[in-house]
Amino acid sequence: MRRTIALLLSLLLLLTAGCGSGNRAAGAEENSGETAGEVTETGDQAEETVPAPEEEPEPEPAPEPEPYAIYDPTVMPEGGQRDGVTYEAYDGIVEHLFFHPVIAYPELAFDGDAQEKGLDDYMVTAEEFLRILESVYERGYVLVDIADVWSEVTGEDGQPKMVRNTLYLPEGKKPLIFSYDDTNYYEYMLENGFTYKLILGEDGKIWSWGLDPEGNEVVSRDLDAITILDKFVEEHPDFSPFGAKACLSLTGYEGILGYRTQTDGDVEWTEEREAFRQSEREAVKPIIEELRRTGWTFGSHTWGHIRLGGSRSMAEIQTDTQKWFDEVGSLVGETNVLFYPHGERPDGDDWQKTGEVFQYLQSQGFRIFCSVGIESFSYIKKDISAVICDRLHPDGTTLRSKYVDERYGQFYDVREIIDLDVRPDLGVGWS
Ligand SMILES: [Zn+2]
Repeated sequence: MRRTIALLLSLLLLLTAGCGSGNRAAGAEENSGETAGEVTETGDQAEETVPAPEEEPEPEPAPEPEPYAIYDPTVMPEGGQRDGVTYEAYDGIVEHLFFHPVIAYPELAFDGDAQEKGLDDYMVTAEEFLRILESVYERGYVLVDIADVWSEVTGEDGQPKMVRNTLYLPEGKKPLIFSYDDTNYYEYMLENGFTYKLILGEDGKIWSWGLDPEGNEVVSRDLDAITILDKFVEEHPDFSPFGAKACLSLTGYEGILGYRTQTDGDVEWTEEREAFRQSEREAVKPIIEELRRTGWTFGSHTWGHIRLGGSRSMAEIQTDTQKWFDEVGSLVGETNVLFYPHGERPDGDDWQKTGEVFQYLQSQGFRIFCSVGIESFSYIKKDISAVICDRLHPDGTTLRSKYVDERYGQFYDVREIIDLDVRPDLGVGWS
């Protein structure tokens, strides 16, 4: 679905403005006189492509957001029921699937260039993602937020420790955590068939903005794993009885959510660069606010996507962590979730060990440490207040794997998911 011409026009103006105002890509609300002035000024540059209106129309008032309820799954609803649905205690396994940004345009991702293999390995397409949602929904999974699955309590020895919470789920349902890694909209992805950024639509909802293979601007809710899930939950509210969506695992080195909020030590940091960075920080704030309001949460994926297994010094890890807090945490708020880049566990990739890197990261507030594995494994550490967990990863490697039925059969039949018509011809290990 396309938005109005006015929206596209204002986006184009902002784009043309480059480092200009940059704030509120689509937000008509709070469109101050100052911003309107800037847009008018840059109008000249855009005239070649799109005729600019003579006068900036009065911004429409922001729509009242649709109410969005978030519930705590660790509390049994009063009387054991909510909205006519009976809830029951659940202490079994909590499955955890993680995704990278999804491929909006397979023809750009799978075009034979140097990135093709990596994108095939680590991503699913928007269509495959939707098929996965439909399948897990039909199989009785319901979304829970990762931070609700464990809590920190004071142990008998007076020391803090993590415990697994009992979850109260609609009868017969199974809990499922979603996390999305690298939802930063990295530069390299933009030309490889991904959406460019998240924006707020005139309806107050999150939309993606990007370019189609012909270079046309597209504002959509069908091309990005964030908006696809938002829409899916709107259509199937019982898929998210607590309002949870996914935990977004963010680095910081190319900004977040499509906004270039980062510093860059490799270039001379001018006042212009800083002013642009600040405008991007302002622009992303309402996006974050709307994401949080509608069930999305955030975790760290380190600022620089750095390996924690031993190739980096403690000083580098500390500098990186501080940068994440300064540039990302300052925007998305506190989190106790850390997603290991490359799935690489600290201190020699040993989950049983509590080495000095793990201790440092824990001292910075992280309690839930996520790697990648062949099952939704989790383990509460005994010597420090922390839980480590593995996540499963629907992507080209596992969709093609001969183990897919064994490891992913509870979620889907791969034959109904993988889109071999658009992926490169690399074969599959199953029959
Ligand atoms: Zn990553």
